[in-house]
Amino acid sequence: MIHLKDIQKTYHAGAPLHVLKGINLDIEKGEFVSIMGASGSGKSTLLNILGILDNYDSGEYYLNNVLIRDLSETRAAEYRNRMIGFIFQSFNLISFKNAMENVALPLFYQGVGRKRRNELAMEYLEKLGLKEWAHHMPNELSGGQKQRVAIARALISKPQIILADEPTGALDSKTSIEVMNILKELHRDEGLTIIVVTHESGVANQTDKIIHIKDGIIGEIEENLNHDASPFGVNGYMK
Ligand code: ADP
Ligand code: MG
Repeated sequence: MIHLKDIQKTYHAGAPLHVLKGINLDIEKGEFVSIMGASGSGKSTLLNILGILDNYDSGEYYLNNVLIRDLSETRAAEYRNRMIGFIFQSFNLISFKNAMENVALPLFYQGVGRKRRNELAMEYLEKLGLKEWAHHMPNELSGGQKQRVAIARALISKPQIILADEPTGALDSKTSIEVMNILKELHRDEGLTIIVVTHESGVANQTDKIIHIKDGIIGEIEENLNHDASPFGVNGYMK
């Protein structure tokens, strides 16, 4: 599904900073992987390239056999919106919109009418155990609830891939486990391809494969198929 060949990226804000020095990586449809590395190792840079949010300097990125470099900006945006859902450490909710409106936002951009998009937003909020919170503003929600709103928003456009940049970075450990359990269920029950970027081994250990990034290249790739079930069990949000 994802094929990266010799991806290079240098930032030019001041002295040039060569962040990605030839990334080679393949991720198959339906995989649940983490990309782990130290702070500053280029994880977000790589995820932004995977998410077609940022350009690369050289190399090849194929997503479902489409060479991303060849897409016009408009086509790239369409492709991104259709294929990819994003989850961020800081949730990125719109502070002056309630939970339901935040979840419905991607459908607004797709031109779906208000009634239909709010209906669908309610379905996804219910799926994430947040029906009662639909009319609350982000600042009235806990961190875990905000991240679940963000997950509902990521899911509403039915993406094939979820890209999560430090999704538990702002959460306590119990809430982190809950959020990782939700991602696990999405992978298991809906067959979504999920890529989680993290600097925490505890988070990476929840995924099936741990891809290490160091000094701008991919290092060891660990299969992690025997990871323990979470001590908290599956919490049933996705039922
Ligand atoms: P990570 O997510 O692994 O912490 P990043 O991909 O965010 O790492 O950043 C890698 C390096 O690139 C860091 O040194 C960071 O300061 C630098 N960097 C990231 N984004 C930019 C940017 N837009 N302009 C200049 N430098 C950047
Ligand atoms: Mg980062």
